[in-house]
Amino acid sequence: MQALVLDSDGKPRVDAHHADPVPHAGEVLIRPTRMGVCSTDLELCKGYMGFAGVLGHEFVGVVEEYGKGVDKAWLGKRVAGEINCVCGDCDMCKAGLKEHCRDRTVLGIAGRDGCFAERFVLPAANLHAVPDNVDDDRAVFVEPLAAALQVVRQLTIENRPYITVLGDGRLGLLCAQVLARLNATVRCVGKHETKLALCEKWGIKHRLLGDVGLRQDQDIVVDCTGSAGGLSVALQMLRPRGTLVLKTTIAPPEAQSAQGRSSTGLDLSPIVINEINVIGSRCGPFAEAIDVLSREEVDVVSLISRRMKLSDGPAVLEQAGKPGVLKVLFEP
Ligand SMILES: [Zn+2]
Ligand SMILES: [Zn+2]
Repeated sequence: MQALVLDSDGKPRVDAHHADPVPHAGEVLIRPTRMGVCSTDLELCKGYMGFAGVLGHEFVGVVEEYGKGVDKAWLGKRVAGEINCVCGDCDMCKAGLKEHCRDRTVLGIAGRDGCFAERFVLPAANLHAVPDNVDDDRAVFVEPLAAALQVVRQLTIENRPYITVLGDGRLGLLCAQVLARLNATVRCVGKHETKLALCEKWGIKHRLLGDVGLRQDQDIVVDCTGSAGGLSVALQMLRPRGTLVLKTTIAPPEAQSAQGRSSTGLDLSPIVINEINVIGSRCGPFAEAIDVLSREEVDVVSLISRRMKLSDGPAVLEQAGKPGVLKVLFEP
């Protein structure tokens, strides 16, 4: 079968004869019908997580086979799937923090082949059935939307705080929509007028970064820039005792310099001086994301910039990295 593979030298390529995966006990075989490229995929190509294998973790697909012990009712079901594959036995799993399992693999990110292929496997425990009223174009956004909803779960919103979502990319625009549903004054700050125009359509305040005074007056800043520089801008926006939510994951400086990329040093002293609360935020609630999509409370379709094919290979990733491009979706 065809698969989009990241080689250990950091180069993505199409493998036209990738071995067909077989579902082991507790696993299902999924045929993805729509896949999405996310910034994490682009960072993996720069050395993030030191990953090699089939890329991809955003998908909607159909269950085609199942391994031992799996409820056969999953067969033929249209599903989204959580990306952390866990042991169920460690202290984190037992404490109900499965996404922090000490023995986990992560779909297309750590120790497990991803979904950018004609078929891939995932534990049945990770599956969520997708209702008929959420079509494939929407369902493929369940994973990134869940990651945006996680920000709300981790924050305590009191009174009517001033919130800035820093970054007008794929994740920033999802976070802005999700946070705008709260009792808060939310603005999205970015560098691209065309992307911020979507906020205009949704009735969400927005500003170009160059037009914003860095006045240390925001209660909460959510860094969705996907760049090392986002942190220092966020710290200049936050009031003392404010809260910084970090959604940005980037390849570490060593990996980037090994590939000849430069990186910036970080000055963490403002965190101490202004007593900033820092919250790291990663994966979120899938069931809630499916509910939000099914109630059409968030617009994801406007984020689709391009449609491509698996056979387009690395060009799919190149497109997603271009300025002005939001979500690139592709099919097998
Ligand atoms: Zn992602
Ligand atoms: Zn575990």
